[in-house]
Amino acid sequence: MTLSKSQYIRGLQCHKSLWLLKNRPELREEPDRAQESLFDTGYSAGEAAKELFPGGVEIEFDADNFKGMLDKTKELIENGTEVIYEASFSVNGIFVMIDLLVKRDDFWDMYEVKASTEVKQYQLNDASIQWHVVSQVIPLDKAYIVYIDKTYERLGDLEVDKLFKRKDVTEMLLEMQEQIEPNLEEMKEVLGGDMPDVDIGGHCSDPFGCDFKQHCWKHIPSPSVFNLYWMNWSKKFEMYYKGIISYQDIPKDQKLSFTQQLQVSTARTKEPHINPDVIRSFVQEVEYPINFFDFETFFEAIPRFSNQRPYQQIPFQYSLHILHEDGTLEHREFLADEHSDPRDELITKMLSDITERGSIIAYNQAFEKRMIRELATCDSNRSKELLALNERFLDLIVPFRNGGYYHPDFNGSFSIKSVLPALFPGDPELDYKKLGSVQNGGDAMDTFAKLHLLKYPSKREAIRADLLAYCRLDTLAMVRIWEMLRQLVKVDILPVGDEIACG
Ligand code: SF4
Repeated sequence: MTLSKSQYIRGLQCHKSLWLLKNRPELREEPDRAQESLFDTGYSAGEAAKELFPGGVEIEFDADNFKGMLDKTKELIENGTEVIYEASFSVNGIFVMIDLLVKRDDFWDMYEVKASTEVKQYQLNDASIQWHVVSQVIPLDKAYIVYIDKTYERLGDLEVDKLFKRKDVTEMLLEMQEQIEPNLEEMKEVLGGDMPDVDIGGHCSDPFGCDFKQHCWKHIPSPSVFNLYWMNWSKKFEMYYKGIISYQDIPKDQKLSFTQQLQVSTARTKEPHINPDVIRSFVQEVEYPINFFDFETFFEAIPRFSNQRPYQQIPFQYSLHILHEDGTLEHREFLADEHSDPRDELITKMLSDITERGSIIAYNQAFEKRMIRELATCDSNRSKELLALNERFLDLIVPFRNGGYYHPDFNGSFSIKSVLPALFPGDPELDYKKLGSVQNGGDAMDTFAKLHLLKYPSKREAIRADLLAYCRLDTLAMVRIWEMLRQLVKVDILPVGDEIACG
């Protein structure tokens, strides 16, 4: 049996997943953009951590020549190299690579670098198989998990020794050693047999989202109990294991929340549920001019700017539609330069763009308000003005979340990406899928974080246009939803005019 470290971890999560990977790899889903972005984050952390032990020699990864990687590692060790990046070892078909291998007197220490901000159980499993292999080849003394200190704030140059924390996990790994051989034996047996009979369960997403879900979950209809709003996963699986899968299977005496009951009843009638009182109480709170506002943010594991913390979410863009009492609709927007810290310029423009009075409406306001609070902490001169904005926010999700309007096509989600197509099916002006390379917040986040790396200005400009189009649609969507809610409760309205673009 040959197994890499990641395959061992996969086997610990689910034997069927390991079997499918080795026998039916064509059923595996391609990694999505979010997974690729996680991979990139891990890579950037690994690169930065090399500076903890500078001057080392790297074993270049070569998927076609593992033997070459093993031979090079052996050669470096024999030649007295003291720091090796990606040192490679193999024992009994188990292949592992060590992020940082450092010689100390007659022993070696291994460092496993993680982009997380705490040490997790699966990372110990990861390191334990590495210890199992490497300790059979060279004398190991200590093992460390190197992870990111989220409280670190970059001030000037990056200080890697402050950015990273190290946890000595040697004792834990030694205790875990006795379980490794039995685990490997089990995996060997699994791989030597037919596909194991493993039902879906919590293990499909813990610790990682499995890339065979499309295959294993294909018997689950839509909607199903897995779409029930705010029901924890163990309860959903409890129902599933009892054979309660579709809404029709749910027994009459099953305890369901108000929203869950709406899901089940509207799926049956195929009609939306409307409670005008809930909608009216929201609509009556709103004051003109109405500022429909939405931020896009990005984060980086390795801070690029001063006063930036690892994974700190930083707004780099906003879109603002302003609806005046006479029905005039204006659009204002900001998109930062990708090469510099966006915060100062964004604050200046935002404070001048948002009208001095009137409501500010966001969809899921907690996020926008938190970003404004964070901006206020890094700009003491304007913090009062910034915090005053938060007093004027209203949340457009409220009438939906409070049962004012539920459409069966929401499918248990009140996100704008679920609500919008259900309310305006087939409207090309409001279709996120018709946008360019940026179609959701995750795309925007990932795109902007990498934009400064693109060499060609024309490519950067094309992407910036996609970012602007995406964020603009978020606030235009809010305007349309607002109009629809007002129509429903017939509060006096003036028609919304054509949009006026402003600087
Ligand atoms: S989807 Fe679930 S059951 Fe299927 S292979 Fe993955 S973890 Fe195992």
